[in-house]
Amino acid sequence: MKVIRLRAGKERSLLRRHPWVFQGSIEKGKADAGETVRVESAEGQFLCWASFSPNSQIRVRAWSFDEAERIDAAFFDRRVRSAIAVRARLPIASDAVRLIHGEADGLPGLIVDRYGDTLCAQFLSCGTERWKQQIADSLLAATGLTRLYERSDASVRPLEGLEPVTGWLRGEGATELTISEHEWKLSLDVAEGHKTGYYLDQRDNRKKFADTVRQYGVKSVLNCFSYTGGFSVAALAGGAEEVVSVDSSAPALARATAHVALNGFDASRHTALDADVNATLRAYLQQGRTFDAIVLDPPKFAPTAAHAERAARAYKDINRLGFKLLAPGGVLFTFSCSGGVGPELFHKIVAGAGLDAGVDGFILDRVGATPDHPQTICFPEGEYLKGLLILKR
Ligand code: SAH
Repeated sequence: MKVIRLRAGKERSLLRRHPWVFQGSIEKGKADAGETVRVESAEGQFLCWASFSPNSQIRVRAWSFDEAERIDAAFFDRRVRSAIAVRARLPIASDAVRLIHGEADGLPGLIVDRYGDTLCAQFLSCGTERWKQQIADSLLAATGLTRLYERSDASVRPLEGLEPVTGWLRGEGATELTISEHEWKLSLDVAEGHKTGYYLDQRDNRKKFADTVRQYGVKSVLNCFSYTGGFSVAALAGGAEEVVSVDSSAPALARATAHVALNGFDASRHTALDADVNATLRAYLQQGRTFDAIVLDPPKFAPTAAHAERAARAYKDINRLGFKLLAPGGVLFTFSCSGGVGPELFHKIVAGAGLDAGVDGFILDRVGATPDHPQTICFPEGEYLKGLLILKR
């Protein structure tokens, strides 16, 4: 077993059960990609069993802090079963569920979503890549399913020195699937959609949006960064008369249009706009158009805290425009999925945007990701999605 020895004092985060070791914290030791290593403090104290990533800034990811534990097929079986057992107890109003959420489930670098009878996985680290076949076996055994599609084409994979890989890992067949979420139906394609196909982390916020639309008698909705129209379907389900979905992805918008029909809503209530959100907001402002509710769910503007400043300007800009386009008494659902922008900073940005727009609002709720994307006490990076639900005064 290869040993990775840390520099003096660098054991602190592992002792707090934070699962990452950065390259600069390592005194000596090397291993192959994904190989299991024993990590020790400068004094030689056992810290964890971990996987080694020779090319990544995150050089080591902890598998287990228990010296007696073996990292073998049975280990992955246990971790997979325990993650799935927790999901069975969580309130999840869908047959589409995140079963494994990386670090939070003790499996750094592994994402697995279940869409009905199909699993879709991302292997994002050298360690998960190395154990891929055992993990796939565990996933099928624990769920009783036979189909597992691999979507290891996320932008973080090259940081690990890994090539993109996509395709059926187990089973075969159609990649186009239909799921139920709350009281509506949605379709996705595991081979072509963003990430594993759909944004399951916003599930409960879409339900909140449907309820809010109903509660406040919202008639017109602008859904910015709509992707396949999850919030748009929610708005129609809540009784909105007129919904505009804006996204720069034509295939996502085609699916949004299909979702309106799939749920039995009249096509005349929905417009799909293939455009840049920023330009669209400015154009509406010039036209003097307003909306009773606006959703702002942009992509990750700040992947890390180092990008926070530029991201802050981008968030502020769209939120300022959003506030201006809101009718009096209108509702704003505004989100950031940037790990580098914490909830406090996000609140500050949105407050600054309101100030610039000359509007104030009541915070109806502060929201995060659905519980199947858990946050853990030891891994603050796990808190990425945050949202403010605001009622314009
Ligand atoms: N709200 C969605 C998820 C949004 S993901 C849901 O509930 O499923 C972010 C989306 O923003 C992606 O679909 C991406 O295509 C789109 N996007 C990114 N930059 C954009 C831009 N400048 N203008 C319009 N859409 C953009």
